[in-house]
Amino acid sequence: MAKPKVLVTRELYERPLRLLQEKAEVTLNRENRSMTIEEIMAALPGKMGVLAMGSDPMNAKVLGAGKDLKIVANNAVGFNNIDLEAATRLKIAATNTPDVLTDTTADLTFALILGVARRIAEADRFVRAGKWTGWTPSLMIGGDIHDKTLGVIGLGRIGSAVARRGQGFNMRIVYYDIRRLDPAVEQNHQLRFFPLRDLLRISDFVTLHVPLTPETRHLIGAEELGLMKKTAYLINASRGPVVDERALVEALRAGKIAGAGLDVFEAEPQVTPELLQMENTVLVPHIGSATDETREAMTLRAVNNILAVIRGQVPPDILNPEIYRG
Ligand code: NAP
Repeated sequence: MAKPKVLVTRELYERPLRLLQEKAEVTLNRENRSMTIEEIMAALPGKMGVLAMGSDPMNAKVLGAGKDLKIVANNAVGFNNIDLEAATRLKIAATNTPDVLTDTTADLTFALILGVARRIAEADRFVRAGKWTGWTPSLMIGGDIHDKTLGVIGLGRIGSAVARRGQGFNMRIVYYDIRRLDPAVEQNHQLRFFPLRDLLRISDFVTLHVPLTPETRHLIGAEELGLMKKTAYLINASRGPVVDERALVEALRAGKIAGAGLDVFEAEPQVTPELLQMENTVLVPHIGSATDETREAMTLRAVNNILAVIRGQVPPDILNPEIYRG
């Protein structure tokens, strides 16, 4: 029997690729660039599955081009690139890769916290530029991390992992989430819930870990930034549009906050040019999950979701289980 056909939109790790190839005929984009929407749409007819990157727009039009499509397996935990409603309507299973990237993304978040407060990137540029003339009491003075208040917005998998790291630094952890934990759990884990505006007022570091949804788009805008302490830092390793980047530039320029550590941007790969000129920003190119172990584990997880559908099973990371009902 002919193997089912699967499109993989970006080069894969060898091990997951081999696993997939055992059960499917794989069309793989071997070029070191993303496929365009047109290329994806042209490649989809006849494919039962697509292994997509979080940057591939899996909108209604693209999904509609996959007449035989049974699964869109995202190689990311965030799935704001998938039109879930359209996938459900078209009875296409949508999956993501939770858990396997939690600690790696939390590590990167903490690198941003440390990097922006202790001016690591700026200090590195300073040394490389040959500007260092010797130890000076006032050189590269930053902010402390230990004993400070860490405000976690979105206390899910990654937010909780960041909170645990903060506790290792003896930070006081406050959080805001649409769902409040049981008070006993809060007490056990030394977490305190605050409404968003209060969290913004009291935190020394505000770190964002919500998914990008219509409700979280521009969750942090001019008003919210205006509530933060002048000495506080904003960290974003969630999705760019959760922050109004223009408002952030204004807040940084006006000294309303002390700095920002950003892994994600509103219009990636474009970065608002003013951010590039500021010394109190640490900017990295969406590398939250970018370690060898984690990227391979994510891909294995995405492949396993496709293999489950090939076996006629519900994929383990299903986002729209309702397609299997009724
Ligand atoms: P998660 O476990 O689902 O955590 C998200 C948390 O945010 C949940 O507790 C969720 O509550 C909460 N939430 C949802 N909508 C909210 C709202 N409007 N206001 C406040 N809280 C809200 O997801 P995760 O695995 O931690 O990942 C979080 C996000 O990080 C992903 O969606 C992705 O976009 C991003 N991410 C980025 C990178 C990177 O490379 N920078 C890597 C991995 C993930 P409910 O559970 O009740 O919905």
